[in-house]
Amino acid sequence: MPRVSYVNGRFVPHGDALVHVEDRAYQFSDSVYELWGVMNGKLIDHELHLDRLERSLGELRIEAPMSRAALALLLKEMVRRNRIKNGAVYLQISRGVAPRDHAFPTELVAPAIVMTAKPIAPAYYAGKFKDGIKIITVPDIRWARRDIKSTSLLGNVLAIQAARDAGADDAWQVDGEGFITEGSRSNAWIVDKDGNLVTRRADNDILNGITRRVIIGLAEDEGRKIIERAFTVDEAQGAREAFQTSASAGVIPVVEIDGRPVANGSPGSVVTAVREIYLKNALTA
Ligand code: PMP
Repeated sequence: MPRVSYVNGRFVPHGDALVHVEDRAYQFSDSVYELWGVMNGKLIDHELHLDRLERSLGELRIEAPMSRAALALLLKEMVRRNRIKNGAVYLQISRGVAPRDHAFPTELVAPAIVMTAKPIAPAYYAGKFKDGIKIITVPDIRWARRDIKSTSLLGNVLAIQAARDAGADDAWQVDGEGFITEGSRSNAWIVDKDGNLVTRRADNDILNGITRRVIIGLAEDEGRKIIERAFTVDEAQGAREAFQTSASAGVIPVVEIDGRPVANGSPGSVVTAVREIYLKNALTA
């Protein structure tokens, strides 16, 4: 099935999906993005991702290229044209194409928009869930506005690469005080000895993950206590369970941190329950 992408108003074969060299995303990462998981052909948490996209655009004063309703239609069309049953749709909006100058263009420039879609076999993440993943921790070297989902991802790129170089699956980033901020592409969680879910408060230091927010709501509805506070590497290593969340991968258990197993080194009952309520909600909501 040939992939179809969307570039500035046109659906094109993926191999022909090209942008201009002076697109500000390319030269300054002056752009924002969103990624929707797709399950059973449905865009998961569709509206919440659109809300966050609007927020990111607003924080950077980038114009929305079209109405929210038009964007929503295009996203669905991406799923349809690529016949995605399970997978992800990526959307990126940049400030547009303009002669290279750091400051915003003074002339009116149309924002540039691209979308790609890819299938992901459900077995891929099911396998990660079953085994859990091993992570390392790395210093968080990113800028101070990680709440904006911008394409300035160099810190995240270096974090995941450090993990791969170390033979681990992923990396959690650590702030100057020794507290974990978030994963390279996910939010970080632990389960304390009382079975409470602990995850960092969403301020400018982390991306307020949609999966994170949805799980907080669902777990609270089930009567589970959520504590939004920072935790250290030591505390995570000694936790009852640890896991990470993202729209693309869902809920993934972390079974080893910097070479030390978390509890008995296999996925626990709380993360299993969290994944179940998340999947049930995603498929029925
Ligand atoms: N933090 C970072 C740095 C991420 O890249 C992601 C994935 N987009 C997340 C958290 C999780 O966010 P979401 O649940 O919205 O995918």
